[in-house]
Amino acid sequence: MKTEVLIVGAGGGGYPGAFRLSEAGMEVLMVDPKGELGGNCLYSGCIPSKTIRELAQLHWRNRRLLDSRDPPDFNKIQERKDSVQLTRFVQHRKELTVHKGVSFVKGEVKFINNHRAIVQGEEVEFKYAVVATGSTPSRPHFPGAELCLTSDDLYSYRTSFRKLPQEMVIVGGGYVALETATFFNALGSKVHILVRSDRALRSIDPDLGGLLLKLLDPNIDVRYNSPILEVSKVGEKYEVLFSSSGNKDKLTADVVVVATGRTPVVPEGLEKVIEITQRGFIKVTDSMRTSSSNIFATGDVNGLAPYFHTAVGMSVAAANNIMSGNIDSDRVDVRGIPVTVFTIPPASYVGLTRSQLRTMNIPFIETSFQLGDDSMAQMYDERGGEIRLFFERSSLRFLGAWVVGIHSGFLINELTQAVVNGLTARQMSNVAEQHPTTNEAIAYAVRKLI
Ligand SMILES: Cc1cc2nc3c(=O)[nH]c(=O)nc-3n(C[C@H](O)[C@H](O)[C@H](O)COP(=O)(O)OP(=O)(O)OC[C@H]3O[C@@H](n4cnc5c(N)ncnc54)[C@H](O)[C@@H]3O)c2cc1C
Repeated sequence: MKTEVLIVGAGGGGYPGAFRLSEAGMEVLMVDPKGELGGNCLYSGCIPSKTIRELAQLHWRNRRLLDSRDPPDFNKIQERKDSVQLTRFVQHRKELTVHKGVSFVKGEVKFINNHRAIVQGEEVEFKYAVVATGSTPSRPHFPGAELCLTSDDLYSYRTSFRKLPQEMVIVGGGYVALETATFFNALGSKVHILVRSDRALRSIDPDLGGLLLKLLDPNIDVRYNSPILEVSKVGEKYEVLFSSSGNKDKLTADVVVVATGRTPVVPEGLEKVIEITQRGFIKVTDSMRTSSSNIFATGDVNGLAPYFHTAVGMSVAAANNIMSGNIDSDRVDVRGIPVTVFTIPPASYVGLTRSQLRTMNIPFIETSFQLGDDSMAQMYDERGGEIRLFFERSSLRFLGAWVVGIHSGFLINELTQAVVNGLTARQMSNVAEQHPTTNEAIAYAVRKLI
């Protein structure tokens, strides 16, 4: 069998590029063992976790603002999550019928060389390949690690995890750990987070991370410098033994979740064909090209920025580079891509923020607005947090921003437009932000400079 382009994996790094190539008249074979489009984002990541987030937030708002005392029906929440996932699987199936140039096959790709692979036991010859095989939860090494759940167990389509735990221990200090902690805390579970080092959210600006951590519900018990020693099952519960300031300490919980990062999934045989980094990711240029000039790698598997929307951007860039005759017409600049930590409350950022600007010695000026003075934040009584904008000192060109607090994930999109298009403070201040929306906070912040 022959194809022009082989797309390996049908997640955000795979199908957007496949559709684009087929729209340009190219013949595409896309393969994924799930037999559905959407990858891990839809199967066990973004969509299911954010459905739970929204419902947990609804429950929490009802409790806080309307004094509702009804306990959450967690099984119903999981059913709702499954139905959202199913809606999107069906939507993707329809999209496939429109893109007739894409043949979609359920299976796993193994590479023979840089022009041949095995799909469903059959040899396939390809001109180009886009490898978008994503990542999988890492499992740390400590006795009893196999007793712990991962995000896949919590969020997968039709998961058997249907009972709300009374007490939960989460191991890890990244965004999946913190998001999960706030969702289950909002639903009424007692949540403990054990962070190995002295800091959580190490990948984001420390000032931003510090602001977010201060805003989290103090009922969430966060313990730093607390590496796990052992997890064991005692009756129906789990005992978690960990180190704490040189001593041993213990927690008991109904479930223990490990959220200690993700490991790239590199298809079998590919390691003989292209360069892999020391940390196991596929090495790519900013045009998504691997060390083999006809093979591209997009999404989590290249380790550049592990988010769905970055995977989509990379997928489209790889497709454009193939369509333009295998030249680097498109490049991906991950700094122009917004990131949100969807905790309750959330935090978002885009572009260059304080710590990077200082490190890069770029003279800058910053302005801010406290969300406590925003009407929408007052309506929800979620008044903690701020919006903070960073501008180049001489030109007042907008360089980056963070938002901590209500609606940050929405606000950051408008700020991304401004960063990517290099707007100045004057241009941003000319916009009439709608009332009453949290977007007004952007105008209030920027007008302080004019
Ligand atoms: C709990 C959780 C919450 C998240 N929340 C968000 C969020 O809110 N926003 C956000 O932007 N990102 C979020 N992410 C990250 C997001 O899910 C990933 O960045 C995104 O899924 C990456 O897309 P991808 O296409 O690179 O990989 P994936 O979505 O992992 O897709 C890879 C696909 O490749 C397939 N595959 C693997 N090996 C082979 C093979 N040999 N042959 C063929 N196919 C293969 C797999 O079956 C899979 O379907 C979250 C992740 C987790 C774990």
